Amino acid sequence: MADTDQKEELLSLIKATRGYAEEMVGQGSSFDLPAAAAPKNTAPPSTITTGSLDQVRSELGDCQRCKLYSTRNNIVFGVGNPQADLVIVGEAPGRDEDLKGEPFIGRAGKLLTDIIEAIGLSREEVYICNIIKCRPPENRNPEPDEIEQCSPFLRAQLATIKPKMICALGKFAAQTLSQSETPISKMRGEYFDYQGIPVMATYHPAYLLRNPSAKKDVWEDMKKLHAELSRLTGKTFVRKGK
Ligand code: URA
Repeated sequence: MADTDQKEELLSLIKATRGYAEEMVGQGSSFDLPAAAAPKNTAPPSTITTGSLDQVRSELGDCQRCKLYSTRNNIVFGVGNPQADLVIVGEAPGRDEDLKGEPFIGRAGKLLTDIIEAIGLSREEVYICNIIKCRPPENRNPEPDEIEQCSPFLRAQLATIKPKMICALGKFAAQTLSQSETPISKMRGEYFDYQGIPVMATYHPAYLLRNPSAKKDVWEDMKKLHAELSRLTGKTFVRKGK
């Protein structure tokens, strides 16, 4: 067997073992998970070509700019319409997303799909991506070095798509795009500017799963977003619900 095949096999064995150990930890067992490998290339990209999303994806390559490369199964780049009027930015892939390579497909993702459809859009019409493209182990919060290494690619995605509006889901998306430390509870429901594009920040769907009473706030934010998106695009999006 070629050396590279053996390395690939070993790497996938390590990942599978880590995944199993994480699941056991989730069920109450205690393990000391081995530390993630050190990043291999920590220089943040100086410029990323923004002609097309494919170009941005190919510049990201088999990214090893932060430690998350050693524990991820797949890079979760983003999905949807490359000419979307609305880009939705989440935090980081979870377990389901890491396994499939697609953002927002787990429980929080199903709720996000309902939210998108409630404002008269579909998942295919919008573009969905995250602040960081690899799953943090055990779904911990993204760390500053991970955001620093990965957010240039989000910026390149946004510069390529040039949406009319952005929706930032949760603290990490809102704070990264606004470059502020304002709590999400203060930012939500108001627009802030990202490179001339209005951004509506709201609570993350995963937060709504834990705090269903916050759904009414998100619905208020989405109604505002719907009105502004209709005004900016001149298009009719038929809203469901009051
Ligand atoms: N939560 C996120 O922020 N992004 C995903 O892709 C999935 C869950």
